[in-house]
Amino acid sequence: MTHLQLSSITKLYDNKTVAVKNVSLEVQPGEFLVLVGPSGCGKSTLLRMIAGLESISSGDLLFDGKRMNEEPPKNRDIGMVFQNYALYPHLSVGENIGFPLSIRKESKSEIKRKVQEVAEILGLDNALSSKPKELSGGQRQRVALGRAIIRSPRIFLFDEPLSNLDAQLRVQMRSEIIALQRKLGVTAVYVTHDQTEAMTMGDKIAVLKQGEIQQISTPAEMYRNPSNLFVSSFIGSPQINLFHGIIRENPALHFYENSSQFSFQFSKDNFKTMLPADGTELTIGIRPEDLSLTMSSNDQNIQIEAEIKAIEYIGHESLLYFSTNGDMKCCRVPSVATVSVGQKVIFYTLYSHLLLFGKDGSRL
Ligand code: ADP
Repeated sequence: MTHLQLSSITKLYDNKTVAVKNVSLEVQPGEFLVLVGPSGCGKSTLLRMIAGLESISSGDLLFDGKRMNEEPPKNRDIGMVFQNYALYPHLSVGENIGFPLSIRKESKSEIKRKVQEVAEILGLDNALSSKPKELSGGQRQRVALGRAIIRSPRIFLFDEPLSNLDAQLRVQMRSEIIALQRKLGVTAVYVTHDQTEAMTMGDKIAVLKQGEIQQISTPAEMYRNPSNLFVSSFIGSPQINLFHGIIRENPALHFYENSSQFSFQFSKDNFKTMLPADGTELTIGIRPEDLSLTMSSNDQNIQIEAEIKAIEYIGHESLLYFSTNGDMKCCRVPSVATVSVGQKVIFYTLYSHLLLFGKDGSRL
């Protein structure tokens, strides 16, 4: 099991595009880290630098404390799975899985033994003589995994490996990949732009934006305690509700949402670090499940009056959409709630549910 460390890693393409900026992170031996962020934020570049497919402009890459920056890819012992995992169509499943060993000129008997072992782990032992075109999408993905694990790599790198699969298969393969990684105990870095994939798979998640790390934490911590506005709205589905507004003292401290009826009085206890002055611009985040149609017995309720614009029934719960300040917001309630579109309701939340962000997006 390998301890992976990135220390102040920067990547400058053609001396102008800063694709990755001063990234430091650590993946403990056997840990599964997910790198997540919007398209173009530098995820693949980071992964390719770990694999040695891209040079590192500055900073240190360490495997078990040893600097690897200048090591060629073949010395890094990486098992990589890409989105386009192109299998060789003219080779059988067994030959595809064994391919990395044949180019290393390992003996035929050794290759056969290892292919059999990997095929058993992946449930492909009955398909070894089939050609890739005879397999289902999930089986093909497993062959690609087999090719990555057959060399017993120190580190797994996954670059959006499930993007080409349909939704149902994607969910199945997520748990298969996790189970495989646990079984083999190999340190893994997994890149995706899909926050649900990140939340469901990672021991730890690192959120990237424009080449910079925004937060590294467990999925639960990231959801409940996002370090800034970007992370709060990137993580979570449906997205967090954001109320942009201003603080007024008249004479007590109030929050007024821009161009809407929504306002409430703040208690000084709501601010952990500092008390905002009159005129401070503020964004308040409330997760959809932290809004309710019923008042809590706790007397610290905040009320939002709104009309229900749409209802999405999703089985055991429903999503109620309403609009304030010109943008749609969402409340997640158990489906037993009896409400209809066009109805005026009061949504309740508690002070303890509010996430407060300053004008620059930092958490207050
Ligand atoms: P992601 O994987 O998050 O979509 P990438 O790592 O592919 O992001 O890209 C990060 C940034 O680097 C983008 O602005 C992209 O245009 C730029 N970039 C990627 N590869 C190259 C390259 N070979 N030459 C120049 N710029 C590149």
